[in-house]
Amino acid sequence: MKTVFEKIIDRELPADVVAEGDRWIAFRDIHPAAPAHVLVVPKKPIARLAAATSAEQGVLGELLLAAAEVARREGLGESGFRIVINNGPDGGETVPHLHVHVLGGRAMNWPPG
Ligand code: 5GP
Repeated sequence: MKTVFEKIIDRELPADVVAEGDRWIAFRDIHPAAPAHVLVVPKKPIARLAAATSAEQGVLGELLLAAAEVARREGLGESGFRIVINNGPDGGETVPHLHVHVLGGRAMNWPPG
């Protein structure tokens, strides 16, 4: 069964897409946890970071570069931003399709809750 992110990638579900490459798509989180909250998602489903293999090394690098570019486009280049990948139940993962959260527009706390 498709995840919500696969449905967004296949344009079966609407999303506010802010950027896109051949192997990834970036869209706004439906429940933003910060003034700027964008998800960067590989188009080829990978369940989570721990499921990635060396064959995915290239796309993993692209996701991080895309996240930094999205942050710049969101105007977060100077103020700063946070990149998050939730992995598994204790990591807070709710959608089993790898995604990089780009969060900014407010000061982040550390350690995270
Ligand atoms: P996770 O908790 O797995 O790291 O993050 C999943 C994120 O996906 C959550 O922040 C949640 O708000 C977001 N999300 C879940 N369903 C949808 C959806 O249908 N559209 C969008 N744009 N975001 C979604």
